[in-house]
Amino acid sequence: MSVRIALAGNPNSGKTTLFNALTGSNQFVGNWPGVTVEKKEGRLKGHKEVTIVDLPGIYSLSPYTLEEVVARRFLLEEKPDVILNIVDGTNLERNLYLSTQLLELGIPVVLAVNMLDLLEKSGDQVHIGKLKEKLGCEAVEISALKGNGVMKAAEKALSLAREKKAAPKPCPFQSRVEESLLRVQEELKGMVPEEQKRYFAIKLLERDEQIQKLLPRAVDAGGEIARLEEDMDDDTESIITNERYQYISSIMQDCCRKAARKDTLTLSDKIDKIVTNRILALPIFAVIMFLVYYVSVTTVGDWLTGWTNDTLFGEWIVPGVSSGLAAIHCADWLTSLVADGIVAGVGAVLGFVPQMLVLFLFLAVLESCGYMARVAFIMDRIFRKFGLSGKSFIPMLIGSGCGVPGIMASRTIESDRDRKMTIMTTTFVPCGAKLPIIALIAGAFFGNAGWVAWSAYFVGIAAIVCSGIILKKTRMFAGDPAPFVMELPAYHLPTPGNVLRSMWERGWSFIKKAGTVILLSSIVLWFLQGFGWVDGRFGMLEAEQLENSILAYIGNGIAWMFAPLGWTQGGEGWKMAVAAVTGLIAKENVVTTFGILFGYAEVAEDGAEIWTRLSAVMTGAAAYGFLVFNLLCAPCFAAMGAIKREMNNAKWFWFAIGYQCGLAYLVSLCIYQLGTWVTTGAFGPGTVIAILVVLGFFYLLLRPAREGSRRPAGMKMAAGGR
Ligand code: GDP
Ligand code: MG
Repeated sequence: MSVRIALAGNPNSGKTTLFNALTGSNQFVGNWPGVTVEKKEGRLKGHKEVTIVDLPGIYSLSPYTLEEVVARRFLLEEKPDVILNIVDGTNLERNLYLSTQLLELGIPVVLAVNMLDLLEKSGDQVHIGKLKEKLGCEAVEISALKGNGVMKAAEKALSLAREKKAAPKPCPFQSRVEESLLRVQEELKGMVPEEQKRYFAIKLLERDEQIQKLLPRAVDAGGEIARLEEDMDDDTESIITNERYQYISSIMQDCCRKAARKDTLTLSDKIDKIVTNRILALPIFAVIMFLVYYVSVTTVGDWLTGWTNDTLFGEWIVPGVSSGLAAIHCADWLTSLVADGIVAGVGAVLGFVPQMLVLFLFLAVLESCGYMARVAFIMDRIFRKFGLSGKSFIPMLIGSGCGVPGIMASRTIESDRDRKMTIMTTTFVPCGAKLPIIALIAGAFFGNAGWVAWSAYFVGIAAIVCSGIILKKTRMFAGDPAPFVMELPAYHLPTPGNVLRSMWERGWSFIKKAGTVILLSSIVLWFLQGFGWVDGRFGMLEAEQLENSILAYIGNGIAWMFAPLGWTQGGEGWKMAVAAVTGLIAKENVVTTFGILFGYAEVAEDGAEIWTRLSAVMTGAAAYGFLVFNLLCAPCFAAMGAIKREMNNAKWFWFAIGYQCGLAYLVSLCIYQLGTWVTTGAFGPGTVIAILVVLGFFYLLLRPAREGSRRPAGMKMAAGGR
């Protein structure tokens, strides 16, 4: 008989550790259907017929985060055979809040009290026998990290499933609440399975609109809610939350014994006193990130990337491929396709992989030891002000090196809305590949002034902040920022296995998926750039004949769109358009393309030679607008691939790309039109449009926020715990 065990628990309770211990390498990672929440499934070691489904880490079964919705849909609709509920034994009271809800689903539950090793060290005690008796479900003590009791927990779950044990009895509420529940359950007759009635009734009382959607027809609990609220002088959600905590604290008294401590501060608390200190937090963080960057980007990573590019590709693969192709007398175009198109294009991207792996390794260490949770906590104070969560900071920071790992780092953001917003805005931060564009424009138009680079970062950050504020006011992203209840877990020594696994999962998905996007785009670009019409005949072009390429035709076709941005001086606007398009493939291409188009291919690297030429075809305002356009518009193909993968939804992907391009266009329009007005006094229809755009922008920025969704009462209390 095949059995499905659902693994449920709070974030940081040790779920991943337990999951890895139970499944070994028999696991598959994907996404839940239709959403970007990570889905992990695996087979229990030594039991091929047993599947373990790792649910997202959640604090409750309410509808406030996508994770909660995913988890409860799975539990209600797919009805796993048994729930293995992992709770952090050092934080039992908080963790049991979810357990009281899991017990209501009509599914057998095994409670796995984790962190046994820490409990033993601290001298605190959890009476497993009493806990079992009080909760009326199976319970075992485990240490997921050390592997103690792990298999026993799984086997308990397995035998419950096999024996088809009845579900546990849910936690009782006071009689007035029970009365209301009974009446709502009466209404639900025949609509939901008997064993799920209580859960549905509770959710209906809590005004959970999402739960209505799971019912065959609408149930109006309004009258019952009104009476209960009247009688108990509180809102139903708080009433029920309160009942749960009352019940939990009555259990805690009997089941837990705290060791007497001389010093109530644990080591973790002491570290936190320094690390999250209001004044020291930011400098400490800056130093740590500097070190991480220094090692992964500047030293070790750079060395590895250099080796990959110069030795692996430069000395082995490229010459090997070339001589191999020459040996078999391959046609010129095929040699060019393989060597200049595929190997060069894909190689340039794969060259980033070693650097990224080193970076991911550090991030995995920082994440699993618990430091990232602190960073998010520190940054949250600032980021909340414009509607993002503190966790968005890490992706943006990484994005200043390269947008691809930056976008991928957004995985650690649990709230779906915040994650989508972060994915959309992370690439506004100038990445390494945009620096040559900045240098070129600064050199050609502004006498190499330092403010150009500085202002580019400022524009990027301003775009993030303003997007945050504006998007939060739209219906799509409306609602209070998810209450920040991430508890600060005790610091842990990370295990090499988990760290390496996490590094590899991220790295491999980059190699696999971004690799395919890059492969395709390299081929397409190679073709568009390398082929065209010379004297009426279609064929392969020499490097200097780029003006004849298909790409140039495309550029000419779209140049009119950029006329309002001032890219048309001297009839050479198409070159700017082509540069912007090749920039979509890789931002480095912008400078290279300029070099080729303006006839200085060989000196394109430092740009100095094309300064004079460039400054003859664009005004300063247009050039700065061009720079900003390239900073804000859709990123390179690799990053777009990452966006597509992380959004996991075509509609959202196009929305993100459209938003970025639209914003880039409008901002550079305003820069050009208003800049021209200020510098030359020329006033035209374009100026009027730009002024209207600016006014519209301020309206969107300053209009009152929409009414936020109700704040989850349970989470409020959970957050107050610390
Ligand atoms: P998740 O968020 O629920 O997936 O939690 P993780 O599995 O990532 O665990 C969070 C942290 O707790 C990690 O640093 C683990 O190494 C650590 N951890 C998990 N189980 C135990 C345990 O039994 N004992 C100790 N000391 N640490 C543990
Ligand atoms: Mg985890």
